[in-house]
Amino acid sequence: MFKIIKKCPLCGSKKKSKIIKNNKNIYSYFLSKILNSDEKFILKNMQNYKCDICGLIYKKKWIYPKSVEKIYNDFQPRHPGGLNTLKKNFGKKKFIELIKKYKYFLNKKNYEFSDRKKREIFKILNSTQNKRSNFIKLKKKFIHNLINDRLDFAIRNYLTLSNMIDKPKIYSQFSGFRSDEISDYLNKIINLDDISSYAEIGCPLWGNYNYFKKPWIKQYFINIDEKNFWKAENCLKYLSKRVKIIKRLNKNKIDFVGIYNFLDHLENPLKLFNKELKNVENLAIICEDINLSKKIDCQHFSSWNHKSLLFLSKKIGYTIIDKPFRLSNSIFKLYILKKY
Ligand SMILES: [Zn+2]
Repeated sequence: MFKIIKKCPLCGSKKKSKIIKNNKNIYSYFLSKILNSDEKFILKNMQNYKCDICGLIYKKKWIYPKSVEKIYNDFQPRHPGGLNTLKKNFGKKKFIELIKKYKYFLNKKNYEFSDRKKREIFKILNSTQNKRSNFIKLKKKFIHNLINDRLDFAIRNYLTLSNMIDKPKIYSQFSGFRSDEISDYLNKIINLDDISSYAEIGCPLWGNYNYFKKPWIKQYFINIDEKNFWKAENCLKYLSKRVKIIKRLNKNKIDFVGIYNFLDHLENPLKLFNKELKNVENLAIICEDINLSKKIDCQHFSSWNHKSLLFLSKKIGYTIIDKPFRLSNSIFKLYILKKY
């Protein structure tokens, strides 16, 4: 049922300690169906270990590719995290539409689907920027009532609540990794006049192509076809026509590559850096930080921190410039690596 990872995927050591549990989520639910097991059993078996040598957190038991593929074939054909950056998936209209669908499925006693709609509703509410106390209070009450399927409360309050949904929080799933803060930071570190090519790996809709949109900068998306709980295909069609989609870099020398919230999906991170990204001058890496997020999800093979990224950068011939940069008050940190 599980593939056993015998040693650290970054440094090769077998020494590990500190076990970190997984949170229940949509993927643990899918896996319980696919592997025909209790969700608790899945979560326990997929718990995370921290390498004593390089600090990388990884899973000792991992899922075979055929099970992962089943998720995308049978359960979730798209990458919701990427598509959520499209404007139509956030806001008052979408919220009202979800409430109506939730009501429909709940009345039909189709709890699998009503729960799905509930999760989407929570995601919108928790990603809403609005900081006013009347919103925060009503949101809390609303979520609490929805968890317990108190439909009457939802019906009475959803319109009021929908009017308070303004814009998505910065760095939430609905915003991606672009901001004035990131642009200001990059301005200090690089001179765009020196950059002639920029590429991204990961989700094509999360990134920072706009910042690098200068007439002299060629833009690429590297579609490495990673099947590890990852699927870029459906998001690709929304990418600007200016961006050339390529399978590998080959001999193209690229000045700057952005890897935003993607490293934790790679089973063999060294292969990517030693092969695909061998000729890259600068890397911008954004990772979820466990000390900030306080959690790991079961669909993420690994979790990275300053220590493991330092180890990686030495191993592949880069230096991390500056301290890791925490993005606003989010759970993400940005690291810039330069080739030496
Ligand atoms: Zn290690």
